[in-house]
Amino acid sequence: MALLNADLHCHSTVSDGTLDPEALAARAHANGVELWALTDHDEVGGQHRAAAAARALGLPYLCGVEISVTFAGLTVHIVGLGIDPDDPQLLHGLAQTRGGRERRARAMAEQLAAVGIRGAFEGALQYVGNPELISRTHFARYLVETGVCSDTHEVFRRFLTEGKPGFVEHQWAKLGDAVRWIREAGGVAVIAHPARYAHPNPTQEYALFAEFKAHGGQAVEVVTGSHSNAEMVRYADLALEFGLAASRGSDFHSPTESHCDLGALPYLDGRLTPVWELLTDRVLH
Ligand code: AMP
Ligand code: MN
Ligand code: MN
Ligand code: MN
Repeated sequence: MALLNADLHCHSTVSDGTLDPEALAARAHANGVELWALTDHDEVGGQHRAAAAARALGLPYLCGVEISVTFAGLTVHIVGLGIDPDDPQLLHGLAQTRGGRERRARAMAEQLAAVGIRGAFEGALQYVGNPELISRTHFARYLVETGVCSDTHEVFRRFLTEGKPGFVEHQWAKLGDAVRWIREAGGVAVIAHPARYAHPNPTQEYALFAEFKAHGGQAVEVVTGSHSNAEMVRYADLALEFGLAASRGSDFHSPTESHCDLGALPYLDGRLTPVWELLTDRVLH
């Protein structure tokens, strides 16, 4: 079961990816993915399309989402796998979570204008597939397109991150709410890309894992596109210490921006419980 090419984290044009759900399904299938989930930010509007496209290809599918959470002043992402994408409480919670994005984007554009970058709100909007889901990624694409930066990673280094122009503090969902929406929609909650959070100290990371588990969270992404080999080992050990299952997902956004393609990941360590063992009855065939 550990030797399964599962890719349980990626983004479509419904959030901040550049491919639509059908093109992602085709790419996952062509790359040899054996179990797939689309996990758009704060939005499940692509789930029925992704599931239908996967079914037509004979690719087993789990419905998914990636919820933005504020935990101890940091933004943390919680992936939900095997959810019912029509669950009313989940839909309501996600709509609330998306709610402040337009206001935030206007404030980001004002800060960018103050450092001489004009028209960023309208510019970012040109890249947005879903008007409720304007994200920093869309601003990054605009800043690359207009020649301010040479790639999206440079944008995040120079702008849009804490302490840099274009960063606007935002209150996302609460950890306990996100985990509850996922669980009550029939899914399993997963801490996404744990190495990407700038916890001020190791105690805060332990607090995240402990509170997540206490709220009913069951898994952590051990293998993900942004983890180094050392980080995969570290989070495999932490998964075992906390009794969490392990997930695997590229976090693919775009053929030109993402360095990790769909399905192009190391297998899970055989000591771990793969998250898909908890989700056998939620897989769509
Ligand atoms: P938002 O939800 O609007 O705060 O945007 C977050 C998204 O920005 C993430 O999901 C990534 O797609 C992207 N992002 C964040 N940090 C970086 C980075 N350092 N390099 C490239 N993309 C990033
Ligand atoms: Mn993203
Ligand atoms: Mn994320
Ligand atoms: Mn993601």
